[in-house]
Amino acid sequence: MSTSVETAIDRAPLDAAAKACEAEIVGFLRDLIAIPAESCQEGPVIQRIKQEMEKVGFDEVRIDPMGNILGRIGSGSKVIMMDSHTDTVGVGDPKEWAWDPYKGKVEDGFVWGRGTCDQRAGMASMVYAGKMIKDLGLLGDYTLWVVGSVQEEDCDGLAWLYILREDGIRPDCVVITEPTNLHVYRGHRGRMEIEVHVRGRSCHASAPERGDNPIYRVMPLVQEIEKLNERLKHDSFLGKGTIAVTEIRSMTPSLCAVPGACSIHLDRRLTAGETLESAVAEVKAIAPEGAEVEVLSYEVPSYTGLKYPMQKYYPTWVLPEEDVLVRSAVNTYRKLNGRKPVVDKWVFSTNGVGSMGMMRVPTVGFGPGEEDVAHSVVERVPIFHLVEAAKFYAAFPLTYLETLHG
Ligand SMILES: [Zn+2]
Repeated sequence: MSTSVETAIDRAPLDAAAKACEAEIVGFLRDLIAIPAESCQEGPVIQRIKQEMEKVGFDEVRIDPMGNILGRIGSGSKVIMMDSHTDTVGVGDPKEWAWDPYKGKVEDGFVWGRGTCDQRAGMASMVYAGKMIKDLGLLGDYTLWVVGSVQEEDCDGLAWLYILREDGIRPDCVVITEPTNLHVYRGHRGRMEIEVHVRGRSCHASAPERGDNPIYRVMPLVQEIEKLNERLKHDSFLGKGTIAVTEIRSMTPSLCAVPGACSIHLDRRLTAGETLESAVAEVKAIAPEGAEVEVLSYEVPSYTGLKYPMQKYYPTWVLPEEDVLVRSAVNTYRKLNGRKPVVDKWVFSTNGVGSMGMMRVPTVGFGPGEEDVAHSVVERVPIFHLVEAAKFYAAFPLTYLETLHG
């Protein structure tokens, strides 16, 4: 078996096939970039992806009730899913851009614009990997689902919570194609959004002694949060957990009144071993008496109108380096490049919080583009990354089977 697999992903034909697809991958990516789609507006870009999946010969293409697109290749027993979210962040102030962010300018070996690396590039490479699998006969005892998910920028993991609970697919593994600079990533910190609400008693501000000013009771908490940040756990792989106050808000009938309530918003990044329960308990321990500590919820409907509420708790996930999925990704890279890839982690959060953080499906990352230009006005993706990623995705399924059985 291993001989046939080795032969099946012989480098030369894969290199040639990928090179032959380069212009089409770039063209498809530029088409995707030209369809702006912030979270909850992905309908048109999903339709464009459907068209391309059908064109290159996927066996089945469906759009689920949330609006995620799922393209299938093969019908074997091991189920491999790959994900690219289809929404992007906005462009902010257009004057900050030196070129049209929705044009997909091609220059210096890069495609430039909003959504290039984050992460229409992943989608473009995956769809053409599908074509290469078909053209080169890289099929086997696996089913590959190429997924274009919705709402990631607003609520990472939500689409995968939905797909894994509601779409009736039970994957053995998930590959996230967010930018990794062609490295293999095996986790990242989690995060949560917390608010602390403190009630007081409103009164005329000309006689503040009649009331109870909640802002004064929140101020020591703010200082305690700053100290809490200093003592949060450190993990040698993921780095340190963090907490930051990002907003203070009062509810007051007038600026000439003592407010009746005050709330603070907390951005919490979770490292290994930190959970919703531990993070909430830490805040409760320093909050004034009677304060309410709330983990916020996300319940914005998707572009199809489907509501799937979720707490804004995005759990940390890390897959051990010796896990068969990490080894499969490393083997795939090694076959294509003749050397071991860098194995690392993302700084930002991805849909892995849904697939692995919440649903415990082994998840790994490999994607075109550099993480640090995501969400910036110099967002871009190297064209050779598109080609290399397509080769990786085409070679991955058989290498996964080989690593599993090896
Ligand atoms: Zn992203």
